[in-house]
Amino acid sequence: MHNRLMQHQKFNRWHEKQLYLSFAWLLSCLMCGFLFAAIVEFVGKNLSGIFTLISLVVLYGIGLAAIELFRRFWMQFSFAQQCASSATCSHCGKYGLFEVRGDAWPIYARCQKCDHQWVIGQDED
Ligand SMILES: [Zn+2]
Repeated sequence: MHNRLMQHQKFNRWHEKQLYLSFAWLLSCLMCGFLFAAIVEFVGKNLSGIFTLISLVVLYGIGLAAIELFRRFWMQFSFAQQCASSATCSHCGKYGLFEVRGDAWPIYARCQKCDHQWVIGQDED
């Protein structure tokens, strides 16, 4: 019983970690957004040839970075949610009672209660 509880907490902690990671990406994305807005405001006040051009190049880079960061956030977030929704054993209905091996993908899950095995992160067959 104690061991099962441990497994449950283990999955929950792993899932939380995935969510924190995804929100770190989102936070970075928002930082890019603020930086972008700050530079736009700065350029608006200082309209002088070459300086504006450099600023536009920088803005372009920040824009690309923001898109990439948001993409990573969304990948990580949907990954974590997908794992959580697949974490219930289809045989006995127990949630999160399995070992998660690192951050490997797909996750090979084995129910600690009924020994049912399944893979998280692949389409249902
Ligand atoms: Zn089971």
